[in-house]
Amino acid sequence: TPQIVWLRRDLRLSDHPAFFAAAEAGPVVPVYVLDDNAAGEHAYGGASRWWLHHSLQSLASQLGAHHSRIILRRGDAVEQLADISRELGGTPVHALRHYEPWWRKAQGALAQQVDLVLHDGNYLLPAGAVTTGSGSPYKIYTPFSKAVMEQMPPRDALPEPEHISHPHSWPKSDDLADWGLLPTTPDWAGGLQDFWQVGEAAAQDRLAEFEDDVAAYDEARNMPSIDGSSQLSPHLHFGEISPAQIWHALKGRRGAGWNTYAKELIWRDYAQNVICQFPAYATQSYRDGYGDRLWRNPNSDQQAAQDLHAWQRGQTGYPIVDAGMRQLWQTGWMHNRVRMITASFLVKHLLIDWTQGEKWFWDTLVDADYGSNGVNWQWTAGTGVDSNMFVRIMAPLSQSEKFGAARYIREFVPELAHLGDDDIHDPPAGMRPADYPDKIIGHKEARERALAAYREMKDG
Ligand code: FAD
Repeated sequence: TPQIVWLRRDLRLSDHPAFFAAAEAGPVVPVYVLDDNAAGEHAYGGASRWWLHHSLQSLASQLGAHHSRIILRRGDAVEQLADISRELGGTPVHALRHYEPWWRKAQGALAQQVDLVLHDGNYLLPAGAVTTGSGSPYKIYTPFSKAVMEQMPPRDALPEPEHISHPHSWPKSDDLADWGLLPTTPDWAGGLQDFWQVGEAAAQDRLAEFEDDVAAYDEARNMPSIDGSSQLSPHLHFGEISPAQIWHALKGRRGAGWNTYAKELIWRDYAQNVICQFPAYATQSYRDGYGDRLWRNPNSDQQAAQDLHAWQRGQTGYPIVDAGMRQLWQTGWMHNRVRMITASFLVKHLLIDWTQGEKWFWDTLVDADYGSNGVNWQWTAGTGVDSNMFVRIMAPLSQSEKFGAARYIREFVPELAHLGDDDIHDPPAGMRPADYPDKIIGHKEARERALAAYREMKDG
């Protein structure tokens, strides 16, 4: 009997336990359903839709080489899969387990209607697999990370199935071009097109390039001016490569880099463990009492709305913040250190709710991920399960100097490209070009305002 493989954020053929199991059992019918309702506000944003289009196209051509194809459907994922399964005579559905609240719900509902076989493989370990001594899931990153380091199995990643046989007849499929995932006018995706190669082969190439760089990762990853990190995040988000493939390719490489890199990969698993425990984590502060009692609300406060807009467009007058926000807009990606700086700037300097930043990142990042985005925003805002960090306010100008961001600023803020290394982080008044904005708020003033607002909130 044919076997359906339900593909979601796992658009690859190698190290895909669900695909592998299906291919062993019979002719394979790969299905992708674009379900914009299930995720509600977290339906894919613009940058993710661009990536998805290219990733599906790439997977379709890989499958074509096996004389196979991918069936595209739009609508309610559970209904579509149940229909296809019925049409093929009650075939089983294989899928990798995903942890977004809407996917957990869909997995539960689909299992009521078809023979659903869930496999693990998009994370180092299944969420909930490592537990504390008392058997409960970890809430805090550091002990979680130690446990994963100890328990990560030495398994070899699965190869691409050698033979993928196909059914006698194919269920009907949409045409990818009709889904309108790519921008029309204005076409803002030119920068993404220049910056990224999408698909499984590109992800493997990226990993191969990074193999030599991992040794220097420990220090290089913090420097926005050099490509010191792997830039594998969108490939990982869309599952074009598995974290186990990366783990086994890099493990044991010399230098401190591997250890630090492994811990970053574990942050990705940690985020899934958090959203399993607290499904609304990407939309609501975990700690009580924040929200409008602390932050200015751009929906009711016009100045806050203008400040939010300046942040989104990279017009705050802080070069490192503006470079980061413009890198995000142009390429769909932002350096991790600069994500921390820009996020802290929104939440503390501009005193705007982190959920506004989460939404903007959701729409503009090619690696936008419900768990990782929510966990990192709450970490920055100090509203999450970890220790409260609100009062630790990052100083963007000294961060910019400390991590040598001059070249990075020149690349993304061309108005400042003529300035030397000493002046570019904080151009003195006489050296600010007319087309570059003044600082939206002074650092000292912003710091004092944030701390005062926080004290007021705490004092009730
Ligand atoms: P590398 O440094 O090469 O790390 C390797 C991989 O580890 C990454 O590809 C990523 O999958 C994972 N990783 C690294 N750091 C983290 C982290 N802090 N949390 C979770 N996973 C991590 N990452 C996302 O994948 N999606 C998001 O939506 C996202 N939103 C973020 C929002 C904020 C406010 C901040 C501060 C960070 C966010 N991150 C997010 C985490 C991190 O910035 C990116 O994963 C990283 O910059 C991706 O670049 P890279 O692949 O070169 O990372």
